Amino acid sequence: MNESEPGSIACHACDLLVEVSSLKTGQSAICPRCGHFLTAKRQDAHSKVLSYSLAALVALLVAISFPFLSFSSGGLESVMTLPQTPRMIWEYGLPAVAIMVAAFIILIPAATLLMLLFLCLPLHFGRWAPWIKTMGRWVFHLQNWAMVEVFIIGVIVSLVKIAKMATVSLGLSFWGYVAFSILFTLAIAALDRYQVWTEIEALETTHG
Ligand SMILES: [Zn+2]
Repeated sequence: MNESEPGSIACHACDLLVEVSSLKTGQSAICPRCGHFLTAKRQDAHSKVLSYSLAALVALLVAISFPFLSFSSGGLESVMTLPQTPRMIWEYGLPAVAIMVAAFIILIPAATLLMLLFLCLPLHFGRWAPWIKTMGRWVFHLQNWAMVEVFIIGVIVSLVKIAKMATVSLGLSFWGYVAFSILFTLAIAALDRYQVWTEIEALETTHG
């Protein structure tokens, strides 16, 4: 699954093939031609991914369990939770948009985090697991489809507009989701594609 030859990595920015097999723990490699980051061999890389992923899942649980926003206008108050957002869009007559919103802001990020756990737990303990390659493939695909930061920016932009018409107060879930999106981004950032596949291949060789 490495897109390059064993021991080498193709620069994502300029396609130069760079030899990285001599990389030692604590070192990182950048492209000698364009300076693009290639890979880093970090100590405890997997425990970092694991702790960010677990913390992100807890934050997501908070984000879906409590009020996200409440609006009050003219003595009327309405409270909105995160799972209600897609339902309201659905009832508004836009089922496709509702499914996409639910997928991009909750389901895909949650699935990505669970797969990160299933991928990094065996890697952390240096054990082979029959699902490890499938998890690796899915994690690197799905991470492109999680739009947690886009959602946060969208919410803030809408709030600025709504604040002119109604009094908006942010609920516990809003902050839960902000924490979730930061932790999710950190978990993905701590995952080094090249190192993960190198370790999977090494485990596969010793396993069979
Ligand atoms: Zn380059």
